[in-house]
Formats: sequence, structure tokens, C-alpha cells
Amino acid sequence: MNDYLVFSLLFVAIAIGWFLGRRSQRGSVNARDLPGQYYKGLNYLLDGRPDGAVDAFINALEVNSETLETHIALGNLLRKRGEVDRAIRIHQNLLARPSLPRVQVHQAHLELARDYISAGLLDRAERLLMDLVAESPAKRRASQWHLLDIYQSEREWQRAIDIALDLLPRKSLLGGSSAEDPEEPGQSVPTVLAHFYCELAEERHRAGELTAAQNLLLEALARDKQCVRASIMLGAVELDAGRAKQAIKALRRVRQQDPLYISESVPTLRDCYRQLGDEKALRAYLKECLDSHPSPPLLLATVEDIRASEGSEVAEAFLVAQLEKMPSLRGLEQLLDLQADVSEGQSGDKLGLVQNLVQRLIEERPSYRCSHCGFSGRHLHWFCPGCKYWGTVTPIRGTSLE
Ligand SMILES: [Zn+2]
Repeated sequence: MNDYLVFSLLFVAIAIGWFLGRRSQRGSVNARDLPGQYYKGLNYLLDGRPDGAVDAFINALEVNSETLETHIALGNLLRKRGEVDRAIRIHQNLLARPSLPRVQVHQAHLELARDYISAGLLDRAERLLMDLVAESPAKRRASQWHLLDIYQSEREWQRAIDIALDLLPRKSLLGGSSAEDPEEPGQSVPTVLAHFYCELAEERHRAGELTAAQNLLLEALARDKQCVRASIMLGAVELDAGRAKQAIKALRRVRQQDPLYISESVPTLRDCYRQLGDEKALRAYLKECLDSHPSPPLLLATVEDIRASEGSEVAEAFLVAQLEKMPSLRGLEQLLDLQADVSEGQSGDKLGLVQNLVQRLIEERPSYRCSHCGFSGRHLHWFCPGCKYWGTVTPIRGTSLE
């Protein structure tokens, strides 16, 4: 049997024993009758049968204002262990008692909604949470954050935006960070709100509705002016709308917002400058960025540009000089590629073999990592699959793992 469960149930058993003892001292409980279930529960527990123990404890402890916390703690414990059905039964059992004060009914409601979320019964959770938003000022924000999670997982971005907007004003009235309230997650409302607008904008962009997409991205930037994703997407929308200069303006904003993402803006930026016939300006911009914020992905983009404009030999010399300062596997791969170019196939199979090896080494390494939970992968996720934070996955800039 799980040690953690035994420990936890023993704790609950002690709590129940304490309640029973206290109540019998006050004469409100028949001390000879009630502990029967309690000892039965303890026996189940000692026999290694936690299922029977849980039921016996529930029966032993009358539901009232004093014991509610214990019931809720037991329910939450079971939910955390993945025994959601039992947690639901405990919390539903609480709601079947009409004598409980409204505040405690709301607390049980919220826990039941959390059980439903854990069980994947999102429709039921949503209904409960909407009731709580309407009826319980104390549980309103906690319920709204859960609703936000639900809409997020169902990709219902407009509904997520509506909830997030509702969470905003009180936030600014409080004037504090979200970390002050233990029920609130760590990310700020404007940060997540900006990403919801980006998600909607992506849908509109795919549907070819460029003006709608543009407006949504401007809204994202109005909510969070540091939203690098909105700038990168706005660049792509502006370019599709035939406004290359506007696109460049949006994309160059990335450097001020978060230099780690400059390399992500380069492909669209290259298309923009090419359309304007001003590749020279791109080269100048890339070299400038490389000087101020050196990173392997940015180096590769710059070298690629030099290769296209000045040829492989110049690119190779530039890359060798840079690799001495900032060694990286991808840089090495590019160098081998350039050498194959320069030797025009004279280098034979050996170079091909080394190229293959380096490629395989690179394939085993992630290109992006979440600064919050450490999740890493080959692709840029704006929504971290590991910790469910927005905008925390960044290109890896370290040299050894790059
Ligand atoms: Zn993460």
C-alpha cells in the first residue's frame, strides 16, 4: 500500500478521533456508539485496505461546520492521488447537507468542480464554476481561473478572453502581483490575455481575414506590449497584406521586446527585405543584432545571408571567426556545409560522413527550452506543454547544448 496514503489517512484518522473526542466531552455525541466506525476504519487501514478505511471514516464523521474541513481535506487528498470517483463522492456527500452555511457550500462546490476537471468532465465543472462566479464573491476569482483553464484546453479563445477581461480590473484595483493570492496561478492576466488574442488572430490569419487578424494582434500588444509573439505574427500578417515596410517595423520590435527571439523573426524579415529589394539593410540589421545579442541561431541566419549575397568563401571566413567566440554544433554543421560548397565536391566521402554524424548529433538535441519548467523540444511552443505557461519557451542560446 502506498505509504503516502497510509500516512495521510492516519492523519485524517487522528483528526476524526480528535473531533469525536471533543464532541463527546461536550456531551453532543454518544461516546460509546460513534467510535465504532472510527475503529473499523483504523482496522481497515492497518489491514492494508485503504478503500474500506476511507468509507468507514466518512461514515464516522458527521458532516457539520466543524468537520467540513476534514471532509474536504480527505476529498482533496484522494483527488491528488488520482482517486477522483471517491473524491467526487465525498464532496457530493457534503453538498447533500442543506444545513451547511452558504460559504461552506461554495467551498465544497469549488472542490467538486476541481474533481470534475481532474476527471475530464469539463462540462459539469464549467456549470458549477459559472454558478460560483455568479453566487460566491469569495470564490469568484478562483472559479474564473479554473474556467480560463477549461476554455484554454478547449481552445475556446473568445470565451477565455471574456473571462480574462473580467479578471483584469480587480487586478489593477488590488495593485498587487498574482503571487499574493495562493489560489491564483503565477502568470499575469495581461500576459495570458495577449496570447489568447494571438490564438484568435492565428485562426483569422489562416482564414485569410487579414484585417481582423491585424486588429487582434494590435489588441494583444495593447494588453502586453512585451508580447513578442504578437510582433512576429503581425509581421507575417502585414507582409501578406502587401505592407512590407509595416511588417519590418513590427518584426524589428522583437529586438526590444526580447532579443532571444530575434532569430524567430528572421525568415519573415528576409521575405520583407527581399520584396523591397533591400537585402543590404537586412544584412546590416543582422550584424547589428549579432553584435549586441550574440546567439547561435542568429549567427546561422547571418551567415546564411552572407552566403547568399557574398558567396560561400566569405561566409565561411566570417563563420570561422564567430565560431571561435561562440562554438556550437549547428555552427559546425553550417561550416561543413560551406566547406562542401567551397570544395565543389572535391572533398570526397569523408566530409559527407562527418556531416552525417553532426546532423545526427543535432537531431538528438532540443532547440527550445521552457524557462519556467525546463521542458525542451525541437519546436517553439507558445504554450508550454509541460507547465502550461504562455511564452516561456525560448530558443536555446547556450553553446554546449545548442
Ligand atoms: Zn514550461
